[in-house]
Amino acid sequence: MTPLEDAQQFVLGQCPPKPPVEVDRHAAAGLVLAAPVVSAEIVPPFDNTAVDGYAVRAEDVATAGQTPVDLVVIGEIAAGAAPDRPLGPGEVIRIMTGAPLPDGCDAVVMVEDSERLGTDADGVERVRLSSTVPVGAAVRAAGDDVQVGDEMFPAGVRITPAIEAVLASVNAQTVTVYPRLRVAVLSTGDELIDDGSPLEMGQIRESNKTMLAGMLAEAGCDVVDLGVVRDDEAELERVLRDAAVECDAIVSSGGVSMGDYDVVKAVLGRIADMTWMQMAIKPAKPFAFGTLARPDGTPVPIFGLPGNPVSSLVSFELMARPALRRMMGHARLTRTSLVAVADADFRRSPDGKVHFARVNGGFADDGRYHVQPVGAQGSHQLSATASADAMAVIPDGEGLPAGADVAVLLLADLT
Ligand code: AMP
Ligand code: MG
Repeated sequence: MTPLEDAQQFVLGQCPPKPPVEVDRHAAAGLVLAAPVVSAEIVPPFDNTAVDGYAVRAEDVATAGQTPVDLVVIGEIAAGAAPDRPLGPGEVIRIMTGAPLPDGCDAVVMVEDSERLGTDADGVERVRLSSTVPVGAAVRAAGDDVQVGDEMFPAGVRITPAIEAVLASVNAQTVTVYPRLRVAVLSTGDELIDDGSPLEMGQIRESNKTMLAGMLAEAGCDVVDLGVVRDDEAELERVLRDAAVECDAIVSSGGVSMGDYDVVKAVLGRIADMTWMQMAIKPAKPFAFGTLARPDGTPVPIFGLPGNPVSSLVSFELMARPALRRMMGHARLTRTSLVAVADADFRRSPDGKVHFARVNGGFADDGRYHVQPVGAQGSHQLSATASADAMAVIPDGEGLPAGADVAVLLLADLT
């Protein structure tokens, strides 16, 4: 049997990052930067006010905290407008959040500290201001967030919605990223029914492809659903060869077990460069990995996951997901792992394998993550595993008693 780490290294070695591309910023959500983003603009682009209020000369309101002062309102600047005259002594301008400061102004008094006095017979408007503000109060200085030439984000950063917003704010129209992967997913097996029709004896509902398509999407891949491919060698070969041309990787489930004489084995063995493994883990012992060459010679990785639904899930998590993340330029390939507290016995027998028990977990008052096994641990019993939060790693041996420390691998990202 192949130790998990050896199998992972073998697979990762054949799944290098794809060559970077320059893409429109709007198409870059979730992708990983392959080059730093350097700002060509300053943010904010001009001095502006952080509050609604009155643009003042701080010296004119130096005593307003004790005795309110009445000043002349010479105009109004809304966000988006430009000041059309400078501020003289004794003058103020009503100003809205985000509007540019007029020349001569060095602070802003917020509207809460003002009282409108109206316009007198001569057409002069006044306001009573009742707070003293230091020079610079409520002023957002040009460039106090970003300067021209600042490195905003280094290569290796994943583009989140907030990062997209920063890209917009510095007017980065394109970014250099590792491209999104297009991944084909298929299920194999004559027993699989995916059209809702009544089951005949021996038939079961297809479920892996549904799950794997979702897991691929969650991993940031574009998914090409190749459906259920019947046990027909010519058909399977055609589907796989087309997929290799159209896609960056192929994920298939079923037909990789030791005992199987399966068309998957026959076809992949003939057209691709495959390694069939017996992994030293439970579930998900059978696993196959290889590459299928496109007509131009480009090798396209193929992940052959076991058909049992729980095994398929575990195999995807441990083998396919890290490799696909590497191809998309991610630095961190695996999910968060942590040392948890076993809240139940995790007994097992020695069998040369590491067991991945599916668990429900949560942080408790002691600040630690506590786990207990989900109900049914059979590799066909997906219903219990489906709502698991994590997998507990139980090393070969007799297992662990309740209360012991146990390594777990979360099944979702901690953000
Ligand atoms: P296999 O790996 O093809 O030997 O399949 C192992 C078990 O998983 C068998 O019970 C299959 O019927 C079942 N199985 C295979 N593929 C799927 C699938 N796509 N959805 C649900 N069960 C499957
Ligand atoms: Mg099968």
